[in-house]
Amino acid sequence: MIKPYTAKNSKETNDKYYSENKEKINEKRRLMYKIDEHYRLVCKTKELIRKAIRDKEIERPMYCSFCKRFSERIEAHHEDYSKPFIIIWLCHQCHKDQHRIFTREEITLRRRIKARKKKEESNKGE
Ligand SMILES: [Zn+2]
Ligand SMILES: [Zn+2]
Repeated sequence: MIKPYTAKNSKETNDKYYSENKEKINEKRRLMYKIDEHYRLVCKTKELIRKAIRDKEIERPMYCSFCKRFSERIEAHHEDYSKPFIIIWLCHQCHKDQHRIFTREEITLRRRIKARKKKEESNKGE
């Protein structure tokens, strides 16, 4: 199981966890990419944004659009991953808070997807 990103789970802990479980995590990511439509969309959106920033098509701001604080590490947040260029630029802290709110919805959604897949699989088996 990949630990969720929480406040207790600091960046160092995550990096350490990643380097110790690289194989396992990558394997899980590959699997997720294969079976999880939402995860695939998230990956594609992030890739698009990375490229757009690199090619200077969009500019990463220096201020968080939520708390208005300056940060060298403003992150792109999406409420709708199917609209990659509708970006909410947030500092790391606000981004983390946003995801704490959204995770609950995502978990429910994922559970639903999983249940549906399971049902489809069991139907095939009969
Ligand atoms: Zn902020
Ligand atoms: Zn986000």
